Amino acid sequence: MSTELTQRRATASPDEEAQVLDTIERWVEKDVRPIARKYDQADEYPHELVEQMKELGLFGATIGQEWGGLGLSATTYARLVARISQAWMAPTGIFNSHLIMAACVERNGTEEQKQRYLPRFATGELRGGIGLTEPNAGTDLQAIRTVARRDGDDYVIDGTKTWITNGVYGTCFAVLTKTKPDAQPRHAGMSMFIAEKGPGFTVGRKIRKLGYRAIDSAELVFENFRAPAANLVGGAEGRGFHHAVGGLELGRINVAARGVGLATGALNDALRYSQQRQAFGKPICQHQAIQLKLAEMATKAEAARLLVEQAARKYDTGERCDLEAGMAKLFASETAVENSLEAMRIFGGYSYSVDFDVERYYRDSPLMCIGEGTNEMQRIIIARQLVERNPV
Ligand SMILES: Cc1cc2nc3c(=O)[nH]c(=O)nc-3n(C[C@H](O)[C@H](O)[C@H](O)COP(=O)(O)OP(=O)(O)OC[C@H]3O[C@@H](n4cnc5c(N)ncnc54)[C@H](O)[C@@H]3O)c2cc1C
Repeated sequence: MSTELTQRRATASPDEEAQVLDTIERWVEKDVRPIARKYDQADEYPHELVEQMKELGLFGATIGQEWGGLGLSATTYARLVARISQAWMAPTGIFNSHLIMAACVERNGTEEQKQRYLPRFATGELRGGIGLTEPNAGTDLQAIRTVARRDGDDYVIDGTKTWITNGVYGTCFAVLTKTKPDAQPRHAGMSMFIAEKGPGFTVGRKIRKLGYRAIDSAELVFENFRAPAANLVGGAEGRGFHHAVGGLELGRINVAARGVGLATGALNDALRYSQQRQAFGKPICQHQAIQLKLAEMATKAEAARLLVEQAARKYDTGERCDLEAGMAKLFASETAVENSLEAMRIFGGYSYSVDFDVERYYRDSPLMCIGEGTNEMQRIIIARQLVERNPV
C-alpha cells in the first residue's frame, strides 16, 4: 500500500523538508505552546491555530505537490507531528484526521474525485476527517450498521458514527458504510463515501473528554442523507474495508509520533523542574530516586523516537512496514503514558495543579494507546506478523 502512494506522489526535496521543520519549530514555540493550557482547560476550539495551519500548509502536509500539497515524506511528517505534540498534542488531530481522509482519496479515489477534492483538502478550504467507528463497532469494524442504499444517481445513507475527530467543525468526511449488509465475508459488502455536510447529515453531540480537549470529537448522524454516486470512493462498491485499513501503516506511524512528542515533552518538563526544585538542601535531580526515573524516561523516549524513524523510513522507501509501524505505535504510546506518569511523580504535589503542563500530558497520553488500533490488538497483530515472517 505504501509503495503505491510513495511512487505516485510528487514529494518535497530534502531542503524543502528541512525548511518546513524549521518553520514548525518556530510556530510551536511562538503560537502553540503559549495558548495550550488556556484552550485545553476551557475545552475551547483553537480557531486561530486552524487559520495558521492553513497558512503553513499543514492541511496538505502529506498530499502530493501535484494537488497543491507539501508532499512531505512520512519521516518528515512524523518529526513534525512529534514536535507539535511535545508542546500540545491535541491540535495535531485537526490536520491528522483530515489527512487520513485525504490519503484515502489520493490512494483509492477516481481521477475525477482527486481533482475535485484534493486541491481543496490541501488548502484547508474543505476540512474534515474519517468516520469509521459506530456506537456498537470500533475494533470490529466489519460490524458497522450504517447503510448506503443506491437510489438513482445517489446513495441514501442512514446510520450513526461516533468519536469522530473534527466532527463539529469539519464539513467533509470519508464515511464507511455497508452497501450489502448481508454480504459474506462481511468486508465484501462495505463501501467508503466522501460525505459533505448537508440535509440529512448532522452532528448528534460533541463528546466531553478526559484529555485531547479543545479538539472536537462528535457523534455524526445520517438520516436519509443523499450522497452522489460520484462520491463512492474509487467508483466501485465492496472496497470500503480495504480503503479503511489501507491507511493504517501511516496512521500508526502518526500516532506513534504523537507518543514520542508527549514522552519527550514530559521528560523535558521533568528534567527542568528537577533541577529547580530543592529538597533536603539540594536539587531533587541529585537524589538517586529521581535520577533513576529521568534515566528510564530519556532512554524510552529515545527508543520510541528511533522506532518511529525506522518505521517511517521503511514506509518512505515503499518497503512493507506493518510490523515496524505496529511496534513503534505500541512502544511509543506506552512510553507516553509511562513518562507522563513519571513526570507527575517528579513534580510531586504540583503535578496535580493545572498551573503545570504535566497534568495535561497525563490526560492526553492514554488516547495514543487506543487510536489506530488498541494496543491489545496491536500486540496480537505484531505476534501474527512475527509468525508470518518467520515460518518454520
Ligand atoms: C478521542 C478519540 C478520537 C477518535 N477519533 C476517531 C475518528 O476520528 N474516527 C473514527 O472512526 N474513530 C475514532 N475514534 C474511535 C477509536 O478508533 C475507537 O475507540 C477504537 O477503534 C476502539 O474501539 P472501541 O472504543 O469501540 O473499543 P472496542 O472495540 O469495544 O474494544 C474494547 C476493548 O476490547 C478489546 N478487544 C476488542 N476486540 C478484541 C479482540 N479481538 N481481541 C482482544 N481484545 C479485543 C480492545 O482492545 C479494547 O481493550 C476515536 C476515539 C477516541 C477516544
